[in-house]
Amino acid sequence: MTDRSDCIFCRIADGAFGTDIVAENEHAVAFRDIQPQTPSHVLVVPRKHITGLRELEPEDGELTVGVLQLAREVARREGLLDGGYRVTTNDGADAGQTVFHLHFHVLGGRRLTEPLG
Ligand code: AMP
Repeated sequence: MTDRSDCIFCRIADGAFGTDIVAENEHAVAFRDIQPQTPSHVLVVPRKHITGLRELEPEDGELTVGVLQLAREVARREGLLDGGYRVTTNDGADAGQTVFHLHFHVLGGRRLTEPLG
């Protein structure tokens, strides 16, 4: 279990590494995935440390809307709205989650033909 002090995405959101923030709002920040799977691959993470989707609480409603609005804004800025894009999150080890701070992958820039599972 991680907390803010040893969470890499918390540290990125706090500006600790000087990572280029491509978009942000009150609730979330967006930055490019270090190992992009698609021509455009941006991660959207809440500023609040939440380990994954399973830990979202009822009081996180505004945060959830803020995160999804930022994902949509990233897609707009990346020029993905016309062609389409995918927003995914991996919740837990079997899903392939490797960073335990809730994040949404915004993927696009080519035809996404891979099956989901
Ligand atoms: P997941 O496997 O769904 O937990 O996704 C974690 C993602 O974070 C992977 O796609 C990694 O490439 C990405 N990632 C890990 N460390 C960094 C980092 N320092 N900056 C940007 N992306 C990262």
